[in-house]
Amino acid sequence: MIELIFASHNKNKAQEIEKKLTSIFKIFTLDDIGIHDEIIENGLTLQQNAIIKAQFVFEKTNKNCFADDTGLMVEALNGEPGVYSARYAGKDKIDNNNMDLLLKNLNGKENRKAKFVSVICLIYQGVQHMIEGELQGKIIDTKRGNHGFGYDPIFVPDGYEITLAEMGMDEKNKISHRAKAIDKMKILLESLSNNKS
Ligand code: IMP
Repeated sequence: MIELIFASHNKNKAQEIEKKLTSIFKIFTLDDIGIHDEIIENGLTLQQNAIIKAQFVFEKTNKNCFADDTGLMVEALNGEPGVYSARYAGKDKIDNNNMDLLLKNLNGKENRKAKFVSVICLIYQGVQHMIEGELQGKIIDTKRGNHGFGYDPIFVPDGYEITLAEMGMDEKNKISHRAKAIDKMKILLESLSNNKS
């Protein structure tokens, strides 16, 4: 069994990730190992934030660990809200307010292209690896659907007519930025663990 610490307090995310990995991997959240600190995410990029979180945990535990950071990049807004996606409309991190502000800032703009980017920083046997997954799509001008979270109601993936919030969880989990990053981490972990044994 290979243990990995996920630099997050989010139990649901940890379970989702564990389900996608093979059964030789066991994932622990920060709470599982008694770390209750809120890690300050003051990086200027998704990559920097993922590194900050993974390094924090590695320095505290010296164990295999990983951290993720995700953002929505909108082309006509020069990549905003990007690293600030969660707190775009304020530090209370309210999804509806974030979407309203994004729609206001995109009002009248013809280019609606956007992408979600998920970055994972994995520290395995003391070596740092960066992994990314992307989902390309467009921002529509009204919210549609009740599933998911964040910007899902206004994001239509390329090749689809429905928003992520109109899609079932299972379908979203097959195509999402996060799913792609985790799939890549799985392949990497399998090869790293085989090389060690
Ligand atoms: P986190 O790094 O996964 O916490 O994501 C940061 C922010 O990006 C979230 O608070 C959401 O606003 C947005 N976000 C991340 N993933 C998704 C997604 O799958 N759908 C919609 N919004 C997302």
